[in-house]
Amino acid sequence: GTYIDIGDPIWECPHCKAMIWFSLCCSDGKIQLPLLHEPPHPLNHLLFNNQDPKTKNFQQYIRIYNLMFAFTSPGIKFDKSYNTGKGPPTFRIHRQTHHLIGSLLPMPNNPPKFAQLYIYDTDNEIINRLSQNPLIIIAIKDMLDHHNHYAQRFRMARDKLHYAAVPDLKMKLISQRQTDGRLYNLPTTTEVVSLIVGDEHSADKRDIIIEKKSGLLKRIHELHPAYLPLQYPLLYPKGEDGYKLNIPHKDHANIDAAKRKQVTLCEYFCYRLQSRTNEAQTILHSRRLFQQWIIDGYCMIEPQKLNYVRQHQQQLRVDKYINLTGSNDHLETLGRDRGKRIILPSSFVGSQRYMEQLYFDGMAICGHLGFPDLFLTMTCNPTWPEIQRKVTQSNLTPNNCPDIITRVFKIKLNQLMNDLKHDNIFGNIIGYIYTIEWQKRGLPHAYILIFLHPSNKPKHNYLKLCPTI
Ligand SMILES: [Zn+2]
Repeated sequence: GTYIDIGDPIWECPHCKAMIWFSLCCSDGKIQLPLLHEPPHPLNHLLFNNQDPKTKNFQQYIRIYNLMFAFTSPGIKFDKSYNTGKGPPTFRIHRQTHHLIGSLLPMPNNPPKFAQLYIYDTDNEIINRLSQNPLIIIAIKDMLDHHNHYAQRFRMARDKLHYAAVPDLKMKLISQRQTDGRLYNLPTTTEVVSLIVGDEHSADKRDIIIEKKSGLLKRIHELHPAYLPLQYPLLYPKGEDGYKLNIPHKDHANIDAAKRKQVTLCEYFCYRLQSRTNEAQTILHSRRLFQQWIIDGYCMIEPQKLNYVRQHQQQLRVDKYINLTGSNDHLETLGRDRGKRIILPSSFVGSQRYMEQLYFDGMAICGHLGFPDLFLTMTCNPTWPEIQRKVTQSNLTPNNCPDIITRVFKIKLNQLMNDLKHDNIFGNIIGYIYTIEWQKRGLPHAYILIFLHPSNKPKHNYLKLCPTI
């Protein structure tokens, strides 16, 4: 048959100017965040120029360059077992991520790491930062020293420790912001970090106090506005704020009735994941770092959802589950003695009850309708013209654009389901089950089971008639 092209994302959201195929950008204008500005030189050159061999090196190893300048340790346990053989790299992580920050100075006999590199032995900084192209490293270092709030404060701490010999210097990463989070994401240096001599009593509970020298790592809360900029200096080159609490929704007709009037983490990431003609593409063009940023984002959102479940056990009526699973409890008795048991309801995507629920639903459908008649697989093809046009226009490759890939796939899957359900391409259908999975190459694919109406049971071998999708 003929190929049905879904076209380019040329529809501009009237509220936030995102160029989209379908709307998930700003909840119909409820969300407004400050637009990202062009990154300073040389980052703009390194990210967007494709001719210079130096930029090729930077683009390929952007995660390493970012890690060299990150102020916090990512605390991510990467599962490398997936990256065997060919194909684009896959990010797979274990457990929760923790962004950790150490003291200003390293402990005796330990090499300086992360933020300590801004302070300790800076005469040999480039050698300490190791590997990769030294010219690029120098250029990035100069850029951050010139533009980045956090880098500037750490340098100031260095000078104080070095020249003034302050006995007890601490640094406070401030969590509160006075400005309206819808309009401003670039606070002044003094708003984000303060240097403290002696004791500090006025700290907010989310503020981070960095000691002069201690063997302890401090965890930065994912709702601290410095959480993302400290981990991704190349994506937030000036030290722009990441997500923060209490960003109000924009005024809209139903705001008084709305249960929630503030931007959530999920809404923050939805907004940032959009491409706008009037906004810098720093994050969207950061290739492998973009993928890490997305995963990090997911890991920031999930604890919020888990927290909600923990605090709303009664409303979620999980008590009714307890008897159902009582017989499985023997192994957990020890654990239950120690702490409170939290039940993840079946509405929590990915939980055991969620999987069981779907499985039982699937079995119930089969029990009612009999065996499925057709089994279809739809695989995302990175050479689909819509994907190719969009990524070449941005000088990227499909494996650097999981956002484009998943959106195009979902539109085409919806189209196929529409063809099956309403256009009856295989005849009248009375039921279907489908699931979307990700191959290890990062491409989504769907398995679809079709139950045909008895009058439409296949007389032909449909597999031969099935168009290549
Ligand atoms: Zn929008």
